[in-house]
Amino acid sequence: MDRQDATGEQWRTKYQTLADEFEASSQQWQRQQEQWRRNCVALSLLAQGQDSLLDVQLRQLRKEFKRDQPGSTEIEPLESLLQQFEERTGQQQKLLAKSLQQAVASLAAGALTPLQQQRLEGLRLRIDDKLQSWLGTRELLAEWIQLLPVESLPHTTTAANKKIESVESPTVIDDPLRFHDGVCRGVRRLLGQLNLPADHQQQAERLRLQIEDKSDIDSLVMALDQLTDLVVASLADSQNELEGFLQQLDQQLQALQLHLGKDCLLIGEGQDSRQSLNVEVQQQVHELRSLVNSNTEISSLGSRIQHYLLTILSAIDRFEVREQAREQQQQQEMDELQQRLQEVEKQSADTRRALQQQRKLASRDALTGLPNRLTYNNQIRQIWPQLQQGQSLLIGVLDVDHFKRINDQYGHQAGDRVLKLIARVLRKQLPQQHFLARYGGEEFVLLLQDLDARQAQALANTLREAVAAVPYHFRGEPVSITVSIGLATAESTAAFEQVFAQADRALYQAKQQGRNRVVML
Ligand code: GH3
Ligand code: MG
Ligand code: MG
Repeated sequence: MDRQDATGEQWRTKYQTLADEFEASSQQWQRQQEQWRRNCVALSLLAQGQDSLLDVQLRQLRKEFKRDQPGSTEIEPLESLLQQFEERTGQQQKLLAKSLQQAVASLAAGALTPLQQQRLEGLRLRIDDKLQSWLGTRELLAEWIQLLPVESLPHTTTAANKKIESVESPTVIDDPLRFHDGVCRGVRRLLGQLNLPADHQQQAERLRLQIEDKSDIDSLVMALDQLTDLVVASLADSQNELEGFLQQLDQQLQALQLHLGKDCLLIGEGQDSRQSLNVEVQQQVHELRSLVNSNTEISSLGSRIQHYLLTILSAIDRFEVREQAREQQQQQEMDELQQRLQEVEKQSADTRRALQQQRKLASRDALTGLPNRLTYNNQIRQIWPQLQQGQSLLIGVLDVDHFKRINDQYGHQAGDRVLKLIARVLRKQLPQQHFLARYGGEEFVLLLQDLDARQAQALANTLREAVAAVPYHFRGEPVSITVSIGLATAESTAAFEQVFAQADRALYQAKQQGRNRVVML
């Protein structure tokens, strides 16, 4: 290829490239233009409805965009219209903000609940911010409508109103006077039924007068607030009264338990019975307390308290019946026991008397009535230690002489009578402080205290002579009866048995020496 052909080819290629690039750029421009037109149509549709003049221009604009070549001259009036619309909207927002602030101020001056006042204050602070955008304006207005009192809303029930009513108020007031009358009737009835404490009576009276004013709906709202206070006061008073009653009941039950515990012995069946009563009563009192502390309705409280009290009373009744039966049985057992005790005491006294009698009989000789040998032994054992301290004592043994002959000649009974007579004579002659016992058979024993040997011997002779002096007669014949006596002085070194043996030896000597005599060794 020569040089001229090569240059021509280069230019052709360059042209072709530029033609392709132009074609591509042109297609992209058309796509962008088409996208821009669609966006403008969509935006114009969104802006529709804001302003009537603006709506006409927006419709014209959409027509222009639907044409292939929209005229640039029609855009001018739309720009100025948008500017005017924006200015009008700004002014309207300012006006709306101002009127809303005024409305908030007048509403805040009225009777609102604390919650409503709080919400109103929140709304007031957000008014300017919210009105900057259309969405904010809608939210603000919706919130404002919710805050408005029910009676200030339009009376026709719209869908929007229904939604608000479901949040703030369950009814729509079609007839304010009828509504007022209904509320007044309800309040009067409620006040009549409330059992109010004395310090709330005046408040209730003021409330009655206040609700009669039909022209003032605000005072009715305030009155309903006061009514709430009164209901709370009434409930608190009832609660206090009930608490006081239960405390009293509790004290009475404690007193009852003390009384029962004092009067009855805590043994056996009685204790079981009382424990079961305590458990039952305490359980019912516990139920009563938890009933008062629970959220049970006042109307059912009374009947349930009555139920618990009846349960307690019937438990006490059952306890008393059991106690009475138990006390009767105890009384019967006590009576029987008392009777048996008296019988035993009588038996014991009889036995004691019999024992004393037997003791007396055991210590005495049955024939002569004198102390017997056993008593002599006891007596000598008792006085022997005193002898150790220097007292004098003599033991004498006395025996009837030839007594066998009397038995043999006149019979045993005659011999007994002689023994009885001799015993009586001896006891009569012997001073009281000296001891005399029948030792056995026709033998007697003497314990002579505080006498020396001579005095003792003289006393023994007196006894002997007294016996000998008795004028005995058997079968009409006089009979002489004598006794022999042996005496021995107690030695501190000897045992009393040795002294007795010595006296017996002295008696033997007296017999040996001819009888009817006294011998002292
Ligand atoms: P002596 O002077 O030596 O003592 O002669 P005595 O006859 O008294 O003595 P003895 O011992 O030989 O006899 C005693 C009698 O006393 C024998 C007994 O029958 C009699 N005697 C003993 N006790 C009783 C009694 O209680 N009643 C009667 N009637 N006689 C009794
Ligand atoms: Mg003898
Ligand atoms: Mg004899």
